[in-house]
Amino acid sequence: MAAHESRSVEAGLSAECGLARTPGYEDLHGDCRQLADVSMPGAAAVLLLPRCRCACHHARPAPERVS
Ligand SMILES: [Zn+2]
Ligand SMILES: [Zn+2]
Repeated sequence: MAAHESRSVEAGLSAECGLARTPGYEDLHGDCRQLADVSMPGAAAVLLLPRCRCACHHARPAPERVS
């Protein structure tokens, strides 16, 4: 009995990105609302809180080393 075989959503991942890790569902990465816009009353700024720790949101250009 392998009860702990499948983990539905990895910790830190949103439901969309968790599902997007399934082959064939990669499109759901774009559906993830990883940022929650929290508008603070009285403040003009809108804070964007990172909600999802999926790597797809941290796709930053790798520093190319010109050797
Ligand atoms: Zn995400
Ligand atoms: Zn993702």
